[in-house]
Amino acid sequence: MSARAGARIEVRGVVQGVGFRPWVYRVARELRLGGSVFNQARGVTIEAFGRAGAVDQLVQRLRGQPPGNIRVREVAVTSIPPEPTKTFSIAPSTDGDQWALSLPPDLATCPYCLAEILDPEDRHFGYPFTSCTACGPRFTITTGIPYDRPTTTMAPFVMCDVCQREYDDVGDRRFHAQTNACPDCGPQLTLVDLAGQPMATAGAALSKTVELLSDGAIVAIKGLGGFHLACDATREDTVAALRARKHRDEKPFAVMVTSPAAAQALAVLSHAEARLLESAERPIVLTRAQTGGRLAAGVAPGSQRVGLFLPYTPLHHLLLRAVGRPLVMTSANPADEPICRDDAEARHRLRGIADALLTHDREIATRCDDSVAAVIAGQPSLFRRSRGHVPHPIALARGVEHSVLGCGAHLKNTFCLASGDSAYLGPHVGDLDSIATLDFYELAISRLETLVHIHPEVVAHDLHPGYASTRYALARPAAAKVGVQHHHAHVVSAMAEHGLSGPVLGVAYDGTGWGTDGTAWGGELLFTRLDGFERLATFRPIRLAGGERAIRDVWRIALAVLLDAYADDAPIGELALFSAVAPQELRVVRQMLSRDLNAPQARGVGRLFDAVGSLLLSRPTASYEGQVAVLCDELAVGPRAVSYPFSLSNEMPRELDTRPIVRGVVADLLAGRSRELIATRFVDTLVSATVAMVRAALREVGRMPIVLTGGVFQNARLAEGVLAELSPEFDVLLHSEVPCGDGGVALGQVLVADAVLRGRS
Ligand SMILES: [Zn+2]
Ligand SMILES: [Zn+2]
Repeated sequence: MSARAGARIEVRGVVQGVGFRPWVYRVARELRLGGSVFNQARGVTIEAFGRAGAVDQLVQRLRGQPPGNIRVREVAVTSIPPEPTKTFSIAPSTDGDQWALSLPPDLATCPYCLAEILDPEDRHFGYPFTSCTACGPRFTITTGIPYDRPTTTMAPFVMCDVCQREYDDVGDRRFHAQTNACPDCGPQLTLVDLAGQPMATAGAALSKTVELLSDGAIVAIKGLGGFHLACDATREDTVAALRARKHRDEKPFAVMVTSPAAAQALAVLSHAEARLLESAERPIVLTRAQTGGRLAAGVAPGSQRVGLFLPYTPLHHLLLRAVGRPLVMTSANPADEPICRDDAEARHRLRGIADALLTHDREIATRCDDSVAAVIAGQPSLFRRSRGHVPHPIALARGVEHSVLGCGAHLKNTFCLASGDSAYLGPHVGDLDSIATLDFYELAISRLETLVHIHPEVVAHDLHPGYASTRYALARPAAAKVGVQHHHAHVVSAMAEHGLSGPVLGVAYDGTGWGTDGTAWGGELLFTRLDGFERLATFRPIRLAGGERAIRDVWRIALAVLLDAYADDAPIGELALFSAVAPQELRVVRQMLSRDLNAPQARGVGRLFDAVGSLLLSRPTASYEGQVAVLCDELAVGPRAVSYPFSLSNEMPRELDTRPIVRGVVADLLAGRSRELIATRFVDTLVSATVAMVRAALREVGRMPIVLTGGVFQNARLAEGVLAELSPEFDVLLHSEVPCGDGGVALGQVLVADAVLRGRS
């Protein structure tokens, strides 16, 4: 008999709303421990009393990974005087003010629920709304706090006796599962036409949908955070019809596949990519397409990449299995508008796009698009952080003094609410260009304020006066407002992710961001503290003839870099690109550039990619921002190539002269070298140039960690190249959970604002 002991065990990680407390309860009973388990602001606390050996065993079980979607990150044990109690209980939460924190993200269907919906003997057989404490919708169905059935859109569904017994039984997987439902008592499917006329219900709706999809129809399907448009991803005509109807030129569509094996047939998957596909967050994973795979070419035109994801609701599992083919599953929205959320909206906005709507009677409370991720340097990297992650907080190494709202950027917007040591990034909102998106933006902010119980005193925003997010910030009442430089915010978001308080050397490469001098930056090396930065190096600027227009008409950027690199004898007539441009237009733009008329300067590395991509692909236009840059990346697959020449100025901030790089690219093109080789040399040159700039900067400021941030670092070859050259000599940090692109800046804004205000007081 070992002596009696007592312990307070504090557990952090994903431990709330995922069935963690019932699991602790079962383990404690098994070990004959007394005490209790309860939710607290920062996680879950357990007080356990019993034999010392049994208490130790409980701690061991916690440190080994508990089952399902539970993710234990930290277990802190303190011993407390033993109490005689022999009973163990699940106690109510103690922090009246903080129960908001128990709201988890939406969770992919767990293996137990999946087995049940596929088992003809089980009462959940074929039921698309099966869930348990370890899986199912959470964030997207919650209307208020605390997270409980009455504050979700499950409220109208009254549990039948069998479901209620599961809900009440502490030994059951569905003990206190707020989403518990079965065919007798839960939500039901309906297939309707675009006029709202029902075509079929329940199981028949599912089989009719399978029939429609197999016949090449486009069906809008209600998911967790909004409607998807689904169609057969192997049929060229269907995919082309979807593209035409959605007015979407060339942006790739995501494809859902039944299983990891089905994904392997379509893409070359590394082990890390396969794991990311199967993770509980179920992101869309960007992968390299298998040559000769069976996907229609129209899924990702001209691209060698394909975004794949696995089913994450029982409805997806049932559909994919029945159709037996990969399905395009793309957010259902007309171009540039937010994802559709309810039936009336979907019927109205998807007229002319979808042939039918597969819907159900459980409402979506908050829109939430799919998350998008890729593997970089062997680690998952989120490009879009949304469904499956929101509202899971980012833990801050140093808490904020006042609650803060970070309003985010303009493109790919997300916002951030922070209080204490938690920062909550909101769902992906998108480009703030349409009224509909702005409405969603404001609504999403106020909804998250309610759900995480933060009413921000401070508002942080971008310096760009033209961003809708800046205008929103300036119009909103707040005790204090802080404007934050775009790339400073990028760097600080990466620091936050790694718990760094600075200083660091930030390498921030992106398309465009407003600089403190009123010009566009985007190739910046910043000596960075939380409350400020010093610009140590940048790229030679590029003129954008016609301003924003050049971002689509990328040939204008190519022309600008050529004229800059060659002065008057640029070999324009010898390059295939310019034969695709009308001579009159070419003349006008050339004049704009030489006379400096409406041709603002920008330093974005993304723009240099646009220029080189346009030349390599002989492609005058991009159908969306950054397209040509991404296509250029994809070509760079060769072994490490010899760098083009470049030079770095001595005055501060140092400037990278990119003209020799452009001349090198053109010389290779005129010599008939392959575009793959040229793209490879170009990206590898940027690696060398970045390393040279970093070394020069560190000579000025001394040794410190280096963070790589900004959307350009979605380019795996560039990020991995810089990492390989500089580590382990230096500490080089990449983004992982927080996007390196503009979807991550709101977090940086929040922390900069907090630091600036501390400095003022
Ligand atoms: Zn489950
Ligand atoms: Zn039931």
